[in-house]
Amino acid sequence: MRVILVGPPGSGKGTQAKQVSDRFAIPHISTGDILREAVRNKTALGLQAEPIMAAGGLVPDDLMIGIIRERLNQEDATAGFLLDGFPRTVVQAEKLDAILEGNEGSDLSVVVLLVPDALIVNRITLRRSCGACGSVYHLENLPPSMEGVCDKCGAPLVARPDDNEEAVVKRLGAYHAQTAPVVEYYRAKGKLKEVDGNAAVDVVFERVMRSLGV
Ligand code: ADP
Ligand code: ZN
Repeated sequence: MRVILVGPPGSGKGTQAKQVSDRFAIPHISTGDILREAVRNKTALGLQAEPIMAAGGLVPDDLMIGIIRERLNQEDATAGFLLDGFPRTVVQAEKLDAILEGNEGSDLSVVVLLVPDALIVNRITLRRSCGACGSVYHLENLPPSMEGVCDKCGAPLVARPDDNEEAVVKRLGAYHAQTAPVVEYYRAKGKLKEVDGNAAVDVVFERVMRSLGV
């Protein structure tokens, strides 16, 4: 099972990615999570990525491709994987094809979550996540049972530094300019499945599963 999940910021990609990877027992590879961990650990990558991410820009392709190449070479990714946040540019998509070319395994499925721009800013500015375990909440649609506290691990919930309105507008711009062409790239290859992401988490999950033929 090789799945790529694409969608604008705030489309519910990360939430769906976790559920799909659990269901198929494949690793959830999120470039956003990898970068945020690098920022927390103040690695060379983290120091370079931090200001770019905070402003809502894209980290350079060559860095991202290196990260993915290394991650996909790990043992747990040989039987399948779910990519969340990569590829985000056509250059990244082409490089990914080259990386996967030699590998045997099932075909790629690319699922795009469709969510109108008008909903994105609300979704993101009301998003809160757990600094410890990464669980994601929404103050209206998916609130924690106790305000400001993670249901799963009890750690405090915080807003991501790039979840302010200015950075969101910039991330949406980057999505339309750089990532929408990735969607067309996979459509042309006959790999694209389109899913309406404007519904409750469980409903969208059912749609994603159906799009994958499950
Ligand atoms: P979202 O989809 O909500 O914008 P992510 O967690 O996927 O959030 O990514 C957060 C940020 O990390 C992006 O705005 C970007 O700066 C950086 N990033 C993640 N993946 C990539 C990638 N493949 N290429 C370039 N930058 C990336
Ligand atoms: Zn937690």
